[in-house]
Amino acid sequence: MLKFPIYLDHNATTPCDPRVLEEMIPYFANFFGNAASRNHPYGWQAAEAVKFAREQVAALVHADPAEIIFTSGATESDNLALKGVADAYAARGNHIITVATEHKAVLDTCRHLEKTGTDISWLSVKPDGLIDLNEMEKAIRPQTILIAVMYANNETGVIQPVHAISEIAKRRGVLFFTDAAQAVGKIPLDVISDGIDIMAFSAHKIYGPKGVGALYVRRKNPRVRITAQMDGGGHERGMRSGTLNVPGIVGLGKACEICLNEMESDNRRIKTLRDKLENALLNVEGAVLNGNKLHRLPQVSNISFRNADENALMISLSKEIALSSGSACTSANPEPSYVLKAMGLEDELAKPSLRFGLGKYSTAEEIDFTVDRVGAVVRKVREEFETNMKM
Ligand SMILES: *Cc1c(COP(=O)(O)O)cnc(C)c1O
Repeated sequence: MLKFPIYLDHNATTPCDPRVLEEMIPYFANFFGNAASRNHPYGWQAAEAVKFAREQVAALVHADPAEIIFTSGATESDNLALKGVADAYAARGNHIITVATEHKAVLDTCRHLEKTGTDISWLSVKPDGLIDLNEMEKAIRPQTILIAVMYANNETGVIQPVHAISEIAKRRGVLFFTDAAQAVGKIPLDVISDGIDIMAFSAHKIYGPKGVGALYVRRKNPRVRITAQMDGGGHERGMRSGTLNVPGIVGLGKACEICLNEMESDNRRIKTLRDKLENALLNVEGAVLNGNKLHRLPQVSNISFRNADENALMISLSKEIALSSGSACTSANPEPSYVLKAMGLEDELAKPSLRFGLGKYSTAEEIDFTVDRVGAVVRKVREEFETNMKM
């Protein structure tokens, strides 16, 4: 039996895995202690749970547990990384390189830094969404302190050449930060072999709870310094003050453990469904795939449907299928996605785009329904449009 609306918006958020929820519940009431309380078992139990979660998180990305800083999510981690590096390395330089297709949490933080004296270079992307490594290297100056390039894009799933980026950064003595909210737990990722210095990620994108995330901060080769952006008790090695969200952290830990064990088999199944959906929908007339087909996450497909009115498309689909479109449909005159625009798409293609974000609970039945319905709705919307034009 299909349950409506079918959820295909896993890049926005994922449902909490029941095993994650079960692990978290005792830490709301029974084990409610403050992990910073050193003088009694309530505090010790909470600290023990946080220690265990830190190990689970570190194991997923091949970090040392001491390199994991807990935050409220990837937005906070992005802010802490960019502002924290700009502050800590101000004496060395004031230039940061980033990319036009980053998540808003990175773009807006960089815009904020720009107003307060940091120079930002905004790299463009090629039509397939990948950055040009030569352009990136040319942007490096003596004052450059950081290169910020996301691991995988939230709209298209395009995976940047992280290893090549980090090699250039290392050779030129520049730190490399990556927003990996869409990559951690979705594809194998190793901060050592990938050469990542700082990395942001979030629990709710990997079947964990909302409101908790982490920042990986490398401790050797090189030891990265981050200036705290919130003053207080000096938690998290002085980088992020505030009483730890113990249930959330326990949930993030469990979510990471599950990803480590099950990501590979989940991915095989999800990719088969994604490919089936994608191949079928690309047969619809005027359908175009957005983003590099090979360097891409296995669970997302971003497709534009030429000459299909984007508002009519979303209205017709939204009762049965929960997904995101490449245009902000809340306004009367929807703005096309800045990610697709940066890839060079014209408005006619950027606006009628749909992001199909599959997840580990997606079923073949749901995908079959989606293929039929989207195809039919695209045709209907085009016919209505043509009829209106004739009237
Ligand atoms: C979801 C997401 C974020 C924001 O994460 P929150 O934990 O919701 O703050 C940042 N970057 C990317 C790439 C994301 O997909």
